[in-house]
Amino acid sequence: MQMLRTLDKLNVDNSYARLPEHWFQRTSPKPLKNAHLISFNPRVARHLDLDPCQCNPDQLVNYFAGLQPLPGSSPLAMKYTGHQFGHYNPDLGDGRGQLLAEVINQRGERWDLHLKGAGQTAFSRFGDGKAVLRSSIREYLVSEAMVGLGIPTTEALCLIGSEEYTSRLGMEPCAMLLRVTQCHIRFGHFEWLYYTKRHDELKQLADYAIQRFYPEALQADNPYLAFYQMIQAKTASLVAYWQAYGFVHGVLNTDNMSILGETFDYGPFTFLDAYEPDHIANKNDDAGRYAFFRQPAIVHWNLACLAQALLPLVEREALEAELETFMNQFEVQLLQRRKARLGLLTTHPDDAALIEKLWNLFKQNRTDITRFFSAIADLSTEQLSIENLTEFTQSSEQHWDAWLKTYQQRIALEMASEPIRQQQLRSVNPRYLLRNYMAEEAIREATQGDYRLVNQLLPVLRHPTEAHPHLQRYQEAPPDWAKAICLTCSS
Ligand code: AMP
Ligand code: MG
Repeated sequence: MQMLRTLDKLNVDNSYARLPEHWFQRTSPKPLKNAHLISFNPRVARHLDLDPCQCNPDQLVNYFAGLQPLPGSSPLAMKYTGHQFGHYNPDLGDGRGQLLAEVINQRGERWDLHLKGAGQTAFSRFGDGKAVLRSSIREYLVSEAMVGLGIPTTEALCLIGSEEYTSRLGMEPCAMLLRVTQCHIRFGHFEWLYYTKRHDELKQLADYAIQRFYPEALQADNPYLAFYQMIQAKTASLVAYWQAYGFVHGVLNTDNMSILGETFDYGPFTFLDAYEPDHIANKNDDAGRYAFFRQPAIVHWNLACLAQALLPLVEREALEAELETFMNQFEVQLLQRRKARLGLLTTHPDDAALIEKLWNLFKQNRTDITRFFSAIADLSTEQLSIENLTEFTQSSEQHWDAWLKTYQQRIALEMASEPIRQQQLRSVNPRYLLRNYMAEEAIREATQGDYRLVNQLLPVLRHPTEAHPHLQRYQEAPPDWAKAICLTCSS
């Protein structure tokens, strides 16, 4: 039985604040004008042993909009650096987010509470320390959507609006988001200590991270190598999920890479409406460095940056050997994810070819893969024909027909009965995910002071494989205007 607590009685600790003082700046959040609660996520509250029924909006706003310090907390802005668009930037750090505290729950898990949009810090450079409602709604909703899809991600406890404005795409309302995850340590934390040649401190950070996140590494001959290997494995698995579900992160800089292998620091992310491998989510990314199809190679490059930073702790050869296994790790994971989306759980020699053919068809047809898999999940094996999938198979009919026939034959090799197969298919194929236009609609309404859609979308995204008749429209093909949505780094 989980014993639940009120907000002022959370089991708060501040282990990061006990690390060397120059690793962060002690801060306090700067309240926004007329802050008010927009949304609260009771599921995330459970991570903190927080009783959702006993926390009222005023209390949440007091503590998570910077009006009052959370009892026992010791807010700070972390120093880190990182490679942005391929170039090392020594001046990064929490420029508008603050780690308020850590909460230890009854299972012994330690969760970070990080307030995004909390005001300027020593690392703000030219920034105003603020986050706008638009980007905060996007992060709030996509965090839940990722949980719903089973993709590792940071989460968010609440979203707070205000009557304060700042300049982004014109004047926009400011907001704060309480990000909750077990880990706010980025690849860039290690890069900072490496490039400033503080190798003793680098070891201290690695020891802290191992003890807190990867205690199993302590059993290995070289715990620092094991630590790196575990990060690489988690990261390979993460990017396989992204590629299997059509997710484009948009800004895969090393300061946006979590050492827990979670999707982290949401900016101009996109779920592909049409399968276009060269899709660029971020209009500022002229060269397409972070295009959808490049994500595995970029993540590999980012891991090389992390490996470089660990050179004082691990032999170069060992790190290089590990890095060389990345693409294979990724491919294995990707095949597994893609096969699962087709209900294929056993292994057969032609599986990779079957999958390859399907993804080629997606590419040729610019298929909406979310809707395609959702449609497949509603059909029995016998019903798998181009007539029942006309929306997707109009072009290259012959190829689709051939592919569907091979797929039918392949299904026959599975052990599962038809109902089990359909259940399995549905469990990994959502009816809903957070398309840009859905976020856009929620943002438009919220900007007018109507927060209903934000709050209605939250449970739908959390349970994306279920039917939600009141928001049925979001299962349909996106409207034409969705194509014109333009996302930038501006947030
Ligand atoms: P991001 O593009 O959100 O990953 O941020 C890159 C860097 O810029 C990080 O060091 C952020 O803390 C900082 N930053 C982003 N937006 C702001 C802002 N409005 N004010 C201050 N710092 C910011
Ligand atoms: Mg960032």
